Amino acid sequence: MPLIDSRTVDRRPWWWHGLGRRVRPEAYPPERADIVVVGAGLAGLAAALALRERGQDVLLLDSRDPGDGGSSRSLGMLVDDAGAPFPVLVRQFGAARAAAMAQEARQAREHLEAYIAAKGIECDYTPHGRLDVAHSAAEFDRLKADLATAGSTAAPGAEVVAGGDLRSELGSAAYHGAVRHPGGGGLDPHKLHAALFAEAIDAGVVVVSRCGVLGIEPKNKGFELDTEYGLVQAASVVVTTNGYTGAAFPGLQPRQIYVRSQAVVTEPLPQEVLHQLIPRGRMVRDVRRLPRLFRLTADGRRLLFAGTPQVLSDTPLAAARRLAEWVAETFPELAQARIAHAWDGVVGISPARTPEIGQAGGLHYALGFGWSGIAMAFWLGRKLGQQVLRDPESASAFHVTAGKRRWMHYSTPWLAYQSLRDRLAG
Ligand SMILES: Cc1cc2nc3c(=O)[nH]c(=O)nc-3n(C[C@H](O)[C@H](O)[C@H](O)COP(=O)(O)OP(=O)(O)OC[C@H]3O[C@@H](n4cnc5c(N)ncnc54)[C@H](O)[C@@H]3O)c2cc1C
Repeated sequence: MPLIDSRTVDRRPWWWHGLGRRVRPEAYPPERADIVVVGAGLAGLAAALALRERGQDVLLLDSRDPGDGGSSRSLGMLVDDAGAPFPVLVRQFGAARAAAMAQEARQAREHLEAYIAAKGIECDYTPHGRLDVAHSAAEFDRLKADLATAGSTAAPGAEVVAGGDLRSELGSAAYHGAVRHPGGGGLDPHKLHAALFAEAIDAGVVVVSRCGVLGIEPKNKGFELDTEYGLVQAASVVVTTNGYTGAAFPGLQPRQIYVRSQAVVTEPLPQEVLHQLIPRGRMVRDVRRLPRLFRLTADGRRLLFAGTPQVLSDTPLAAARRLAEWVAETFPELAQARIAHAWDGVVGISPARTPEIGQAGGLHYALGFGWSGIAMAFWLGRKLGQQVLRDPESASAFHVTAGKRRWMHYSTPWLAYQSLRDRLAG
């Protein structure tokens, strides 16, 4: 298996190597703001930008350095994904809403692509599309059936890939077949976040880093936030804390399950070796219930791989070693490669496995982005800003009424169950 040397492996996300951290000079938050946005990931930045566009006074708070949540820990795959396979969406929401969700997920991806192009954001975007791959014959049958059920709502150009065609896409014997999606691609999530963060600062958003919100109480037709640096009054509060939502939000925390996922990147490897593994540079998603994601870096020199091996409370290093075993199972050629960085991050998953936007206890929130939040967090974050101002543009197929669903909230049994389902499917 690829070597992880505990003395030398860098435990920070690989993306952080080139750019400095984003601690803001405003050491203390003001006592009052029109709108406070809690959580400075992609969703929080999109909400803050939408609100500033409409002239609102916005304070953005984060308990860490902005971007240190999922937004700069991801694998950087820009995909259109409503969260659950199309037939599952139909079962849960009905055919019309399922189709609207699939359509909106595609719009979300296209919106971010257009935004990156229009603003000239340098985030190493490579629009090479993606493969959804099946690790068993039964999974492959399911993928094909999902595509057939989606019919005209499926992404344009999505098609089944098997046999020699699959071998020309992926140099791994671990997969039975795939569905190829020509849209989307890979980017550097840290560079994307840094560019949006700079834009928010230029637009006049006040950001205070390392200032966690500890609790929120309704007060004077608005809210009083108890923060690590003192009390802040706000007319409205937007919550975009996703996988990092804690006890400060008792009405929102049980709306998700929290799944710690692991990622690794190899040392630079000969380009000709990696080219044989993923010849077209596509993003690859192994569509288990606990997905595995892998891709090449934009320069084609390293392999990135992510998954969820911590089913039973592994230490981060043990989880990284398990992930390295999966790398070798997928690509035996990499059995002797060295892992340069190993890091983790937490994703939030809703009961329906789809993202949610709504209002609970007067708080505006967007959560539940799972493993495909780059496009959706940016999209629903913007809608959230519009929702605060009652703009009809905020309408979304992902809108839910809070309080209807509760989540059992116990990660370990949920993960064990999903992992068992994956093993049975194999
Ligand atoms: C290993 C891994 C790989 C992934 N790969 C992909 C991928 O390839 N493609 C993809 O689309 N998605 C991927 N994702 C998912 C993606 O990263 C997330 O869905 C997305 O970043 C969510 O963005 P967000 O803005 O909602 O939340 P986050 O970026 O997680 O931001 C939430 C912020 O809230 C802050 N916060 C929490 N509580 C408080 C509080 N009380 N007070 C103040 N601040 C608070 C946190 O500090 C954090 O900065 C991956 C995730 C992981 C972990």
